[in-house]
Amino acid sequence: MFLADCHNHTCCSQDSDADLGQVLEQAARMGLSMVCTTDHLDLISRDGVLWDDWDWSPLLAQHRYWQEHGPKDVELCLGGEVNVPHQFEDRVRNLLGQVSLDMVMGSAHNMSERYDRQDFILWNYVDEATCHKALDDYFDELLAISQLDFIDILAHIPYTLRYMNARDGNHITLERYYDRLEVILKNLIRRGAGMEVNTNRGKVLEEYRPILQMYRRLGGEIVTLGSDSHVPEDIGKGIEGAALLLKELGFDYYTVYRRRKPEFIPL
Ligand SMILES: [Zn+2]
Ligand SMILES: [Zn+2]
Repeated sequence: MFLADCHNHTCCSQDSDADLGQVLEQAARMGLSMVCTTDHLDLISRDGVLWDDWDWSPLLAQHRYWQEHGPKDVELCLGGEVNVPHQFEDRVRNLLGQVSLDMVMGSAHNMSERYDRQDFILWNYVDEATCHKALDDYFDELLAISQLDFIDILAHIPYTLRYMNARDGNHITLERYYDRLEVILKNLIRRGAGMEVNTNRGKVLEEYRPILQMYRRLGGEIVTLGSDSHVPEDIGKGIEGAALLLKELGFDYYTVYRRRKPEFIPL
């Protein structure tokens, strides 16, 4: 089966030291047919400070080099993950106009201005009330991102649960946000955009089941698969399982992007 990991990070992301050559070697060993890198195109720091500029040159140089020198049986595509693009829409639009990418993901790692644009990772989720306060803000942000015409894929919808549950020991589910999620997914569908199953290095899958069920019920068809790896060993983790989950839920294909166009891979 053609397996593609379309969410992963290299040393061009602030939070990764991964060498793309090693990532691609590991991808070949894992039997992946495609790697689409999605380094953070961040315009904001973890504590909410806005950065002036973004320099494409290291990312483009890395991509060109490994397209030529990487393993021949692993296709290398160039994507990017833009954090809270709705908070500085014009700047992101301008940034994305400077290069041609294969795929653009929108994510929400930082809170809104209401909470000083702090990264969700920085809060201590001491109780359920704190979790819901953060989630209320988070879903407002996802709603705003889902309306942006330059975002192909909405990244890791259950993202904040990584910190609320896995790290801080809560047992939060997203049910109370399903009405809002439905609006978000409808926006994506109407725009011809999609969502991803982000396995968080092979650790997460079941959290996506109800989201995918809702998405499919609403007519959603575009789903990319990604490990969110930040080290070479994690590339491809959980991708095959994610593809099998899609198949089990009645999807006929998953999606990859080339030159910002969705292409469908039969399951
Ligand atoms: Zn992310
Ligand atoms: Zn990521």
